[in-house]
Amino acid sequence: MKCKNCDKETGTDARIFSGVFVCSECYATAERIFTRVRSDIESCLVLVQDKLREHLVKGTLRVGPQVGSEGLDKDALLAQLGERYAAGHAPTDPDSR
Ligand SMILES: [Zn+2]
Repeated sequence: MKCKNCDKETGTDARIFSGVFVCSECYATAERIFTRVRSDIESCLVLVQDKLREHLVKGTLRVGPQVGSEGLDKDALLAQLGERYAAGHAPTDPDSR
């Protein structure tokens, strides 16, 4: 069978990434990007948690009328993040930034 992404014959190296039939090379690329994005998101969560902690300690945490989940387009944000990495801006070396 052929890789859905690069059309290369997969032979015995066939893999499935998120339900898509790919070769081992494309699988490794997708997985590397996914791992990097996940680590970026986790870093963001840590920052948000620190900020919230800071506000709680100071007693300044307030929710305004325009603040809340409806003010944050998570889908667009994540799609943008995914696009950025899939477009080739992801570093190949996991230690470089
Ligand atoms: Zn491929």
